[in-house]
Amino acid sequence: MQLANQVALVTGGARGIGREIALAFAREGADTALFDVNPEPLAQTAKELEALGRRCVGVVVDVTDGKQVDEGVAKVLDKLGRLDILINNAGITKDGLLIRMDDAQWDRVLDINLKGTFLCTRAVAKHMLKQRRGRIVSIASIVGLIGNPGQANYAASKAGIIGLTKAVAKELASRGVTVNAIAPGFIKTEMTEALPEQAKQRLAEAIPMGTLGEPKDVAQAALFLVSEAARYITGHVLVVDGGLAM
Ligand code: NDP
Repeated sequence: MQLANQVALVTGGARGIGREIALAFAREGADTALFDVNPEPLAQTAKELEALGRRCVGVVVDVTDGKQVDEGVAKVLDKLGRLDILINNAGITKDGLLIRMDDAQWDRVLDINLKGTFLCTRAVAKHMLKQRRGRIVSIASIVGLIGNPGQANYAASKAGIIGLTKAVAKELASRGVTVNAIAPGFIKTEMTEALPEQAKQRLAEAIPMGTLGEPKDVAQAALFLVSEAARYITGHVLVVDGGLAM
């Protein structure tokens, strides 16, 4: 049990990659807390986590709202007694070519993906600094490293997460808190399910390993970064993409 007696908070944890990360951590002994916007899938995933014999607190939190984030973190600390790990996973896409992208499309993606990551990181950092130990992992994307047509907003948000990760890693390094990012390629979730079949086919052909990744591929990378094995790794961006971005 690599995470026995630890508490992990996963944003956007009700489904997709976040859910898989929470399940992987619970299997390694962690109690978990989930922030998400939709109460039904949140309660369903919390039940699955409890079925593994761990405590789980699901809190309805919109990560773009600083007050909700701060109150949510306080609730997690109150109910679970500690907080060792934050996974900034909540994220959305609102794709469109630059010249047709409206302000609302830009603002919403930047608000959830980047500002949400900042707000949650700030909220837990205060606690982790006092504790002199913590692990923060944010889910970026290879799109933040190499760009993608039709995703100017998403690419900017994910590149922003990478800059944020490195700055905060430098701020917190001397206090026992590591801060890293994962840059997944294309992973089979509802986010990519929305792509047309032809686009998925073309993508799979472009990936050296020949297939889209599974949420568990990202979950295992996250597990490594929060484990004792990664104690000397901070400010790193771990690419999990079947070779797509090399
Ligand atoms: P999903 O859309 O499957 O899940 C995202 C979760 O985040 C949902 O439960 C969603 O809630 C929740 N969420 C959305 N907005 C908010 C908010 N404001 N506050 C709290 N929770 C919110 O996405 P994935 O699992 O595919 O992606 C997870 C992360 O991984 C994202 O950051 C994404 O950008 C990143 N990523 C994904 C890749 C992929 O190929 N799938 C590739 C690279 C990176 P609801 O369902 O109610 O909207």
